[in-house]
Amino acid sequence: MRVLGIETSCDETGVAVYDGSAGLRAHAVHSQVDLHATYGGVVPELASRDHVRRVLPLVEQVLADSGLTADALDGVAYTRGPGLVGALLVGAAVGRSLAWARQLPAIGVHHMEAHLLAPLLEDDPPAFPFVALLVSGGHTMLVQVAGVGRYRLLGESLDDAAGEAFDKTAKLLGLPYPGGPQLEQLARGGEPDRYRFPRPMTDRPGLDFSFSGLKTFTRNLVMASGDDPQARADIARGFQDAVADTLAIKCRRALRQSGTGRLVVAGGVSANQTLRARFDAMAAAEGATVHYPRLALCTDNGAMIAYTGYLRLAGGDRGTNGFNVTARWPLEALVEPGAG
Ligand code: ATP
Ligand code: MG
Ligand code: FE
Repeated sequence: MRVLGIETSCDETGVAVYDGSAGLRAHAVHSQVDLHATYGGVVPELASRDHVRRVLPLVEQVLADSGLTADALDGVAYTRGPGLVGALLVGAAVGRSLAWARQLPAIGVHHMEAHLLAPLLEDDPPAFPFVALLVSGGHTMLVQVAGVGRYRLLGESLDDAAGEAFDKTAKLLGLPYPGGPQLEQLARGGEPDRYRFPRPMTDRPGLDFSFSGLKTFTRNLVMASGDDPQARADIARGFQDAVADTLAIKCRRALRQSGTGRLVVAGGVSANQTLRARFDAMAAAEGATVHYPRLALCTDNGAMIAYTGYLRLAGGDRGTNGFNVTARWPLEALVEPGAG
């Protein structure tokens, strides 16, 4: 079974073809970062319009790269939510139209389920059950995963998402949007313990997070240190170490609680090498394994949508009825493939 995947939930247009026997055949992403950089964040109307411009050429490119024509497809998956409604509607309209014209099933995929399953596209994928840490621009969640569609939320951020905290902190440090990757660069030249940030909510039981305090902590340090470039690098380092420690402490707790010995870390922030090193060290000490997506599949992409659509269609889901998208959609509302 071959499934075309279309991602348009935010500021990346992503398209891919996943093939049940040959694996990922091709994928391509167009990032709108340059388009939104001037505004310091994603402008929803501009995002929707750019998806309109990009999505069909990307579909053609990915089909050509796959060596396939649309005739060879068995289904179409598109991101149904959560995300920006106008942006989601572009992918839904294109995906459903393609499917309708060819009498194929069209399936609306949950964006966070797709992030969560992306590490299964790698060699040596984790077996179920496992614990998943999802760290992206809009979400920070710990999830107990029993199988595809079997998710129990263990904890989440009570305020800013991890990626949002990276982006806001980067902005305070004068870095352009989206600042996560640039903050990681800046932190490389920073001294480890010059600034000791708090590790929020690690001193009490539970698996929830809070990152908004780190941003305030940064603001105060930036005001006190003026334009000193070394101080900026040291602040970036202090911030990143605090996020790394906090996430690793909560993951260790979740691993011990679940007893699965397998941790999946996915979403844009999982591209961060300092964080990965911290998770790897924690897991080694716990006798657990950690599984990440390859770097290109950490941030938004079509491959994770095509793959999730494939798993669901191959597992017995019939496709989504009706043309609607879902801006807010809890992961726990999902059910196993074939059970809906
Ligand atoms: P969501 O998936 O919650 O809807 P999103 O789709 O916008 O949000 P992703 O595309 O998964 O999020 O990830 C983007 C986020 O990842 C941004 O906040 C970005 O700064 C962050 N990010 C990307 N690379 C890195 C990195 N190397 N270090 C830290 N953060 C990073
Ligand atoms: Mg993005
Ligand atoms: Fe995302």
